Amino acid sequence: MSASGGSMWPLRFIILGCFLPITLSNEAKESPSIGIVGGGIGGTSTAYFLRQLFGDDAKIDIFEKRQVGGRLATISIGNQQFEAGGAVIHPKNMYMVNFTKLLGLEHVNGDMGSFGIFDGSSMRITSNKYRVVTLAKLFWRYGMDIYNIDNWINEKLLAKFMRIYDIQRAGHAYTTVPDLIGAMDSAFLSYMKKSIKFVMRTAGFGDAFIDEMVMGALRTNYGQSTEIPGFVGAVSLAGVQPGLWAVKGGNKQVPEKLVTEAKAQVIQGTVMSVQLLQYQDKTYRVEYVDAEKKEQHRDYDIVIIATPLHDEMSDIDFEDFPSPIENFPQHYHKLTSTFVDGTPNSKYFGVDNPEDLSEEILTCNDTILVNSCGKKTDVLGSPAQVYKVFSNSPPKEDDIKQMFTSKKDIRMFSMMAYPDYSTVGEELPPFVLHDQLYYVNAIELAASAMEMSSIAGKNVALLAYNHWHGSLEKIDEPYADSTSETEKTEL
Ligand SMILES: Cc1cc2nc3c(=O)[nH]c(=O)nc-3n(C[C@H](O)[C@H](O)[C@H](O)COP(=O)(O)OP(=O)(O)OC[C@H]3O[C@@H](n4cnc5c(N)ncnc54)[C@H](O)[C@@H]3O)c2cc1C
Repeated sequence: MSASGGSMWPLRFIILGCFLPITLSNEAKESPSIGIVGGGIGGTSTAYFLRQLFGDDAKIDIFEKRQVGGRLATISIGNQQFEAGGAVIHPKNMYMVNFTKLLGLEHVNGDMGSFGIFDGSSMRITSNKYRVVTLAKLFWRYGMDIYNIDNWINEKLLAKFMRIYDIQRAGHAYTTVPDLIGAMDSAFLSYMKKSIKFVMRTAGFGDAFIDEMVMGALRTNYGQSTEIPGFVGAVSLAGVQPGLWAVKGGNKQVPEKLVTEAKAQVIQGTVMSVQLLQYQDKTYRVEYVDAEKKEQHRDYDIVIIATPLHDEMSDIDFEDFPSPIENFPQHYHKLTSTFVDGTPNSKYFGVDNPEDLSEEILTCNDTILVNSCGKKTDVLGSPAQVYKVFSNSPPKEDDIKQMFTSKKDIRMFSMMAYPDYSTVGEELPPFVLHDQLYYVNAIELAASAMEMSSIAGKNVALLAYNHWHGSLEKIDEPYADSTSETEKTEL
């Protein structure tokens, strides 16, 4: 099994420099066979983009050890289903918006209802049923920050972030995460190295706003604090803007339907190893244990890893490579989601009258158990009496007793949800692990979100395509916009 790769993993960068020219010899081959490991939104969006680029003759297989969708999954409580993983999508996440349209899926509202920010003993601030009162309260507490934040997110972040769609439409791809993020805007490179707290202070936001509103957003979206890097912090802030939505019936339908749209074959099985082949027609052998627990293998020209390669997440071995490929040193953050069909105890959240308790409780104190507690609608958008509590460790029975005055049903599960951004550091995994071996989840170290996986999926598909056809001029090169507005509306 893969050992911890702390001391070895920079070798991946060493091999990068020596293999790219090999791909020039693939000019004559037209339709590669491609194996993708992982059927989450990362793997399935990659399959979709590969099919668009390579056309009908390419063979695309997706290996999946559990179910297609991965961290997009639903959980049932009573006779209703709720989002258990990736839940809300920003209106400007163009790939997710366009996938939904293309796949004939509908949206449901993903916006928060009333909200409050709890510090462990009382609510620092709560919204009011009248918007004008909420705005006045927010202004009183945070001053102009409350008006400046939307402008900052829209102008300084989203407008620049969205350049990626033009860049990718023009066929440009990047071998490293900093090159991809830097292509959106060079300021984002420094946002990846400095904390969101530092970035926002520098942009003129006050400590009260950062310590309460921003902290509340980060704790609910990533279970982490304002010390996480500015880029992922900014992605998280966009995740509490208005206009959020989810796919009616469950977000997991996007990866499920992308498989069909990509005309990919799903192979149910656990990939154990990827072997570099010598003197054979194909480049890689993927060894896996199938649904009947039998060891099998299939050979491919191109292999794409679309699952995190970190110790808590992966046991995939890479065999016979000239330099070892081992797990990356960063860690993933363990998150517990507790779904409770019941009535919350308002006093637990410092509110005397239960009727005054906000539907979405964010927390701004990283020493308390609860990251957030929110009343959820089901995947059809129907109301429910179900609360989702996020915490960084599993609540004990007594915690639940204190948090809820009554409960009919309770479901709890823990998962390695997204990177622990305090362990990310400056050296990030590359998108290219070896000649014709690519890695989608490198993107998660910059920020983990459905749209980020889709952007990485497109980047990796473009890398694979450009390498295959020897179009190296579109790799790691600056991009100059010459696209018309009409073309910009297409996927
Ligand atoms: C609780 C939670 C809330 C979130 N909320 C949001 C949100 O509101 N909005 C948002 O945009 N994002 C959100 N995210 C993040 C988002 O869900 C993820 O970034 C995204 O789903 C990751 O997709 P992926 O395809 O890269 O990885 P995954 O979904 O993890 O897919 C990897 C797949 O690979 C499979 N696999 C792994 N190893 C093997 C193997 N050896 N052989 C075969 N198959 C293998 C796994 O079974 C899995 O299906 C949330 C995540 C969590 C956990």
